Order: sequence, then structure tokens, then C-alpha cells
Amino acid sequence: MNAPDKAFAQSRAGQESEHFDVIVVGAGISGIGGAYHLQDQCPGTSFVVLEALDSYGGTWWTHRYPGIRSDSDLHTFGYRFKAWTSAPIATAAEILKYMGEVIEENDLARHIRYRHRIESAQWSSQTNLWTVQVRRGDDGALLTFTTGFLWMCQGYYRHSKGYTPQWPGMETFKGRIVHPQTWPEDLDYTGKQVVVIGSGATAATVVPAMAQKVGHITLLQRSPTYFIPGRNADDLAETLRQLDIDENWIHEIVRRKILRDQAVFTKRAREESETVKQELLKGVRAFLGPDYDVDKHFTPSYRPWRQRIAFVPGGDLFLGIRSGKASVETDEIERFTEKGILLKSGKTLEADIIITATGFDLCPLGDIVFDIDGKRLNLADTVTYRGMMFTGVPNMLWVMGYFRASWTLRADLLGDYMARLLKHMKATGTQRVTPQLRPEDSDMPLGPWMDPDNFNPGYLMRGQHLLPRSGNKPEWQHTQDYWMEKDTLPNAPFDDGCLRFE
Ligand SMILES: Cc1cc2nc3c(=O)[nH]c(=O)nc-3n(C[C@H](O)[C@H](O)[C@H](O)COP(=O)(O)OP(=O)(O)OC[C@H]3O[C@@H](n4cnc5c(N)ncnc54)[C@H](O)[C@@H]3O)c2cc1C
Repeated sequence: MNAPDKAFAQSRAGQESEHFDVIVVGAGISGIGGAYHLQDQCPGTSFVVLEALDSYGGTWWTHRYPGIRSDSDLHTFGYRFKAWTSAPIATAAEILKYMGEVIEENDLARHIRYRHRIESAQWSSQTNLWTVQVRRGDDGALLTFTTGFLWMCQGYYRHSKGYTPQWPGMETFKGRIVHPQTWPEDLDYTGKQVVVIGSGATAATVVPAMAQKVGHITLLQRSPTYFIPGRNADDLAETLRQLDIDENWIHEIVRRKILRDQAVFTKRAREESETVKQELLKGVRAFLGPDYDVDKHFTPSYRPWRQRIAFVPGGDLFLGIRSGKASVETDEIERFTEKGILLKSGKTLEADIIITATGFDLCPLGDIVFDIDGKRLNLADTVTYRGMMFTGVPNMLWVMGYFRASWTLRADLLGDYMARLLKHMKATGTQRVTPQLRPEDSDMPLGPWMDPDNFNPGYLMRGQHLLPRSGNKPEWQHTQDYWMEKDTLPNAPFDDGCLRFE
């Protein structure tokens, strides 16, 4: 940072500020990956990771409900640069351990500041800098940082609180209502009647994890979801281990195999959706037997892959149901009562504890208030540039991973992109990069960020109005297609007119 810039930053904030070439927002799997890529690919670039919470991990630090685990395999959810050596589906504790090793092996801890919540950021085109206000949790102090580039690794939902719909009569319920995102440490569910509202991966995890101790646990869903039950092991990885192959090789080979299998599956889900649907249902029937009403409870109305499909290790959810400790109700809630839930069918579910596994509140920019040259940023007024930058927003890269493939695949790809972009700016002596629609894009029709016909989970549908718009050309879309982006992103040109360098 040159002297006038520094003076400007100081006078503007009215206090001493710290400067870094890049500020990484968040120490989840994306932010820690970002720090690794910066250090590895851009030596000499100064950076800091600012994290609001007490430790690293993001999602895997926040969520503490029983059984918390990944729903995709760790060969692809893990980073490409660090081998995953355990069973593919991992607990939060295992993921945190893995991330801790990445931090330690690469000496990243010195770059991370915990309990540092970014509250606001202002861009100045005079200085080509972001000035960032950060609340320090330890003493409540408001700190000022300046940076040339913001790397937004804040995830996609608000960590402080999950999404709970309001049902009539909730206030009359005499038991406890718990959201999995804010799990109380003192919750004793031994011998209790528990109802879990929801049908996604969280509900499918929490039900078998609690089934042993509860009196009974009911999964209450409005509509069914697809699940893939299976052994939590990868045959190829096991064979390669028996052959004493190096773990780094195993990681790469198994990643490639899983990604190839997923590409085939995704294509089939689109092109032969009925056949794929029947295969998935067959997997469930194999656990629940011919007399179980799979049609009612486990046959979704949408085609496979419109929402993420959760893997159920060892079929534990279905084993819980078969044992009689767990059951499923597919119905709608009429209202809460003192003793539980009255369903639209007229049936009552008695409960001591009700768990609302009803999802998240979308929070695309970490609740940070942004101003650009004095004008408040409304993300919904922008158009997404390849799902990672926004029109009119300079020097900001946003990590939104894949929803169907593992999130981290994209975090790694964007790490490469960021490094390439920073090097390009250094080589060309430019200080500002701003996505802009080209003349030929002026009459391009703009639509929502995500086509609901492609992918439509509840949190996204509730929050689409908070997200940037997309166009009908690949440059202006977040395709959610890893298999395309793995080729296009590394080669995305800087001179296609979509990015203005100054
Ligand atoms: C229970 C659960 C299971 C999941 N399982 C999978 C899975 O198996 N596979 C998969 O691909 N995806 C999964 N996901 C999606 C998952 O969220 C992502 O894959 C991934 O963990 C997101 O990582 P992230 O670092 O981008 O964001 P997060 O994990 O959300 O971390 C973001 C971090 O940024 C911090 N932050 C946010 N705003 C600010 C601010 N203003 N100032 C400072 N810090 C800030 C947050 O405190 C947080 O620590 C799962 C999600 C959940 C909730």
C-alpha cells in the first residue's frame, strides 16, 4: 500500500488501520482452502482470514446435533491437495480434524483471526481499496482494515440461527422446540418422545443417531426425499490400500472415479429419470421390506437430482425404522398443541421434544453491509459473473460451491482462478477488476440466480430475491456444473470484455 492510500484509509476510519493485499472472509472449508491457495500460488501476497466464530470449520463447527456428518464423500468434499484417508462419509469431528491438519501442516494459523466479525465494507475507486469494519468479539472493539481484494468465503446461510417456520399454536407446546443448528448442550432425550420435522439430510442423520436412546422418534415430513443407502466405504480405495498404494495417489484416483460416477449419474437422472428413480426406490425397499409403504413415505414427486440426494451410510435411517424405534409420518401440520402436533389428517403426534430440521436462512454475503463509492450495494441488482463475481462490484470474489457435487470442488477451482486473477493484475499493473455487461449483453434477458426447474431446495426458493440475477450466456450464470467448469474456469479469458481492468 503506498503512503497516500494509507493516509486516506486512516483518515477515513479516523483510526489506525491494518492493511492486507487480500482479506478472506470466514474460516470454513472455503476460507481455509482460500488461505492455502493464496500461500501456495501467490507467495508474497499478504492476507488475513477473519472469522466471526471461536474456531475454524464453519458449518462443521456450528452444527453439533447428534450424528452430524457429511452427506457427500470426503474424497471430493476434501481438498484436492490433501488426501482423505478414512471412510468416505465423515463426522463433523473428523472433518474438523482434517481441516486442523491443513492449518498446521501449512502454518496457516498465523493468518487467521477468530472472533472477528466483518460488519461493513466500503469500496473507494479513488484508492482502489476496501475499508472494512470488524467487530472484535473479545472486547467489542471496532477495528478497521483495508484491503485490495475481498475473498468472500462466508458460506450461504446465517450461522447464528436456523430457519423455523411459524406454525399456529407453537407457543402452547409445553415441551422443548430445538433447531439442529443451535443444539442445546443440555438436551437429554433419553426415553423421550421426539418428533423431527423435516425430510432432508439433517433429519435423516438425527433420527438414527437419536433412535437408540429415545422412547420413540418420528420423522414428520410434508413430502418425501430421495436417499441412497449404502456401505460407508469405497471398494476401490480399499483395494488400492491393500496394494499399499500411496494415500495421495488413492485420493486422486478415487476422486476421479467418484466424479466420473457422479457425472454418469447426473446425466442419467436427467435423461432416464424414471429408471433412476426406480433404482433409488429399490435401494430403500431392500431395507424396509415389501410391506412398508415406500410409495407414501420415500417416493418424491420431483425427479432425482432436483434437490441434493443424501447418502445414508449403512442404511441407518431405514434400520431405525425397521427396528420400530423410529417411524415416518408424511402429512402436514395443522397446529401445535400443548402435547405435540395435530396433523391435517386429524392424527396427533405426542412429543416431549420437537426438532425443527427445517433448514437455513440464506445469507449470501455474511450480513456485511457494502457500499461502493458511497452507494449501498444491493446484491439482487447485480448480475453474476460465472457465479463468482458481480457486475459493478470491484475486487471481490465470492465462493458459492456446488450443491449437487461437493462444495469444495468449486472452492479449489476458485482458488486457482483467484491466483490467476491476482497474478494477471500484478503483471498488467492494474488495481481494479469489475465485471460489466458487454454491449452485446445489453438486451440479454435476466432471470433468477438459479432456475427452479434445475435445483429448488426450500432455502434457495425462499432467498432467491437476495441473490444476483443471471443471464442466458455461460459467462453470466452459476451453472452448478463441475464437469463443465473444471475445463472452463481454468481457461476463462480475462479479455472477453466481461471484466473491466483499471
Ligand atoms: C449439516 C450440513 C452438512 C453439509 N454437508 C455437506 C456435504 O456433505 N457436502 C457438501 O458439499 N456440502 C455440504 N454442506 C454444505 C456446506 O455448508 C458446505 O459444503 C461447506 O461446508 C461450506 O463451507 P464454507 O466455508 O463455504 O461456508 P461455511 O461452512 O458456512 O463457513 C463460513 C464461515 O464464514 C464465517 N463468516 C460468515 N460471515 C462472516 C462475517 N461477516 N465476518 C466473519 N466471518 C464470517 C462463518 O462464521 C463461518 O465460519 C452441508 C451443510 C450443512 C449445514
